[in-house]
Amino acid sequence: MRKEKAEVWVFIEQKEGQIKPVSFELLGVGKKLTVDLETKLCGVLIGFKVKNLVSEVFSYGAEKVYLVEHPVLRYYRHEPFRDTVVYLARKYKPDIFLIPATSLGRDLAGGVATSLETGLTADVTELSIDKEKKLLLMTRPAYGGNIMATIICPEHRPQMSTVRPRVFPIPERKFPTKGELVEEKIELKEEVYSVKRIGFIPKEKIINLEYAEVVVAGGKGIGGKEGFSLLGELARLLNGEVGATRLAVSAGWISYEHQVGQTGKTVRPKVYFAFGISGKIQHRVGMQNSDFIIAVNKDRLAEIFHIADLGIVGDWKVFCLALIERLKREKKIEK
Ligand SMILES: Cc1cc2nc3c(=O)[nH]c(=O)nc-3n(C[C@H](O)[C@H](O)[C@H](O)COP(=O)(O)OP(=O)(O)OC[C@H]3O[C@@H](n4cnc5c(N)ncnc54)[C@H](O)[C@@H]3O)c2cc1C
Repeated sequence: MRKEKAEVWVFIEQKEGQIKPVSFELLGVGKKLTVDLETKLCGVLIGFKVKNLVSEVFSYGAEKVYLVEHPVLRYYRHEPFRDTVVYLARKYKPDIFLIPATSLGRDLAGGVATSLETGLTADVTELSIDKEKKLLLMTRPAYGGNIMATIICPEHRPQMSTVRPRVFPIPERKFPTKGELVEEKIELKEEVYSVKRIGFIPKEKIINLEYAEVVVAGGKGIGGKEGFSLLGELARLLNGEVGATRLAVSAGWISYEHQVGQTGKTVRPKVYFAFGISGKIQHRVGMQNSDFIIAVNKDRLAEIFHIADLGIVGDWKVFCLALIERLKREKKIEK
């Protein structure tokens, strides 16, 4: 009998019965890897009462889903999630395991890799297969973003990576909603776990920067907090979100959750406004996949103009105020 090839796994992150879109992005890139490896793409779905999500996982390309449901897994906690994933990985021995580089995924991946005594490459931006050696090539920025390093994990399995939201596109939802379902029953005991969830305090405002269709971003050239209020006004008029460079964040003009770039978030909006941003590589890696980039900078030699679809040499404030006025007029909003 022909031995089945070790599989490519994707951790399906879900919260309160909704799958995070980054899981689909990982299924998309995972599918490409399975073509080169001639193996199966599998989703790993764990939680409580989440079986209804399985068909969605299939429809984005998974051929097999490993499902574990247990009351202990109702909310994310590191230890029970880690134990469950490690149990599955020890039993089924995947070749590759991709995990979203979200707060949850980053927390989980380290514990899983340590328990399985394998390597983990964090925040990869490219994934491909060395066809000769059948190894996963995991590429990510290194040395402050000055070089791209390709990392391999030749001796241990699975080969593990975390991938940030929006690094890869969401694939088409074009696959059958049915596939092979492996329902694992795992014995988990609540009393074993020291961390308990006693409540949940939602944030006043959730910033949806990664999936915003319009991002109005500002850098050091904005000059202060007041400038960012203006960017906020423009973002609201465009149903978008405000982004920022690291320098603007470290100046205390806006909070970290707005930071775009290597040590911030990756975005792929339809329109990205770059106001007073020089366009250093560490910022560009977080926004260069935007569909249309509009840059306003008073320095005509600013690097941002190399990747801008529309470049305006001048003062950002003049352009921003004119745009706000125009949008208000169109929307018939009183001054
Ligand atoms: C390890 C590492 C990780 C990093 N991670 C990130 C990251 O995640 N995100 C990030 O953004 N950076 C990151 N950085 C920092 C990055 O290298 C740059 O320093 C930063 O992106 C520059 O921010 P800036 O464009 O706001 O500032 P500057 O480079 O100072 O540029 C300001 C720009 O504003 C223009 N300007 C000034 N006044 C006006 C005006 N009135 N109108 C129009 N234009 C004006 C100037 O001409 C200039 O081009 C990282 C650096 C390192 C080493």
